[in-house]
Amino acid sequence: MIKICDFPCNNRREAEQEEDKYMLLFKSTLHMRRPFLTPETKKEYFDNRKDIKKEYDKIRRTEKAEEIKEKKRIAYQRDKHKYKETVKQAYLRNIEKNTQMITCNCGSTLQLRRKNNHEKTKKHQNFIKSFSI
Ligand SMILES: [Zn+2]
Repeated sequence: MIKICDFPCNNRREAEQEEDKYMLLFKSTLHMRRPFLTPETKKEYFDNRKDIKKEYDKIRRTEKAEEIKEKKRIAYQRDKHKYKETVKQAYLRNIEKNTQMITCNCGSTLQLRRKNNHEKTKKHQNFIKSFSI
């Protein structure tokens, strides 16, 4: 590290802003990231990288599918009780909504949470067919 100058500042953000100024001035390539970005330049930076990031994520997901799967499995095994609790809380939070009884257009009475499966049944499909003719 080479000391460029003394810069009296009130906080870390001001120091980072100054560092960024010198980084651009000397076209430094030592850092992976810019130390300071204004909200506008930050938005511009991420908008420019959106397609690159999307492509990178896509490749990563396919190449490292097994590794990601294994990591998730280990994380699940480690915090099994936490995951189960989260699912349980979601179930309890939505129980009223999900057990609400509805009457479908085909005449069937069912729970709201079974609606997607019901729409795939022969009874419902036949009703849709007869209705469209
Ligand atoms: Zn139906």
